[in-house]
Amino acid sequence: MTPLRLASPRFLRWLWGWLAGLATCLALSGASAAPFVIETRLLGRPLSAAQKASVQEAAARVAALIQSPYEPVRVDLPADSCEEGLPRLNETVKRFFVFVVVKNLDEDLYGSAQPCELHDGSFLPIYGVVDLNARGLNELSREDLLDTVMHELLHALGVGTLWTAESRVSIGGQSDDRSFVRREGKTWLYTAPRALAAYRALGGQGSGIPLDPDAGHWAGKTVCAEILSGEAGEYSGRVNPVSPLTLAALEDLGYRVNVGTAAPFQLPRPGQGCAAQRSAAGTGAAPNMPAGGFTSCAQARAAGVPTPIRRGQPGYRPELDGDGDGLACETPGR
Ligand SMILES: [Zn+2]
Repeated sequence: MTPLRLASPRFLRWLWGWLAGLATCLALSGASAAPFVIETRLLGRPLSAAQKASVQEAAARVAALIQSPYEPVRVDLPADSCEEGLPRLNETVKRFFVFVVVKNLDEDLYGSAQPCELHDGSFLPIYGVVDLNARGLNELSREDLLDTVMHELLHALGVGTLWTAESRVSIGGQSDDRSFVRREGKTWLYTAPRALAAYRALGGQGSGIPLDPDAGHWAGKTVCAEILSGEAGEYSGRVNPVSPLTLAALEDLGYRVNVGTAAPFQLPRPGQGCAAQRSAAGTGAAPNMPAGGFTSCAQARAAGVPTPIRRGQPGYRPELDGDGDGLACETPGR
């Protein structure tokens, strides 16, 4: 299991930019025309309607990254396969699905996830499981729940969980000796070609992408705020971006991806740390901003502008800053 650790206060109310075009794509991805669909099967404690909607949205957003067709496969697995408490599976699986289980986990976790059974040949997961921590779930903002579920769904698809040769054994017993990671001294490095190329294109140096000690997340100091950052818990109150690194990591696993669905992303410059990345991201051109600026916070959010918008950043207007404290659109949903 690869957990997302919750390590920090959640006061940062940053909603990372998602391009409006992507949002449109996502809204459509539940339709039958979508080439890749993530079905969610809810188990455990019931979710509220709003939480269910967030889980669905996270599934749609992650599915929109992928273009691969799913290869239908017949499975007959006893109960408790993959994880204790899961039901028996006796069906032809026609699309990727995840069990989303709401239960008590360790207090410092938002959730955890893993792929369950891999296709013969492609070594892509047949299905997966995402556990969400019932403790504290109701206190999670919409953005934090979205961010958490997206992060865990990526693990369920194999990102960070199928990077070692030992993990790459198919349902029929085939094994794949490829390892995507290598240990160099005390550091784990990601070395599979697509994500490594994306890393270099962003100015990253060295023979691999530094990983966290669990070898399943980008090192927090390397990427700072990113959906698969080892320090994702430091960047709460927002949906962290799916960078070109993570999109390319899906490609390394063998998924065909929808090119252009990665979020605009910068690595922190050497020696400058994560604060510099955050302010750089915040001062970038606001995508899809009308010439006269946004007329409402809803419009700004729909265009993918991170909120709150600070005075001096594109999109800031005094009219959107009711209390005049230099932060516009600081109330979620308004
Ligand atoms: Zn994780």
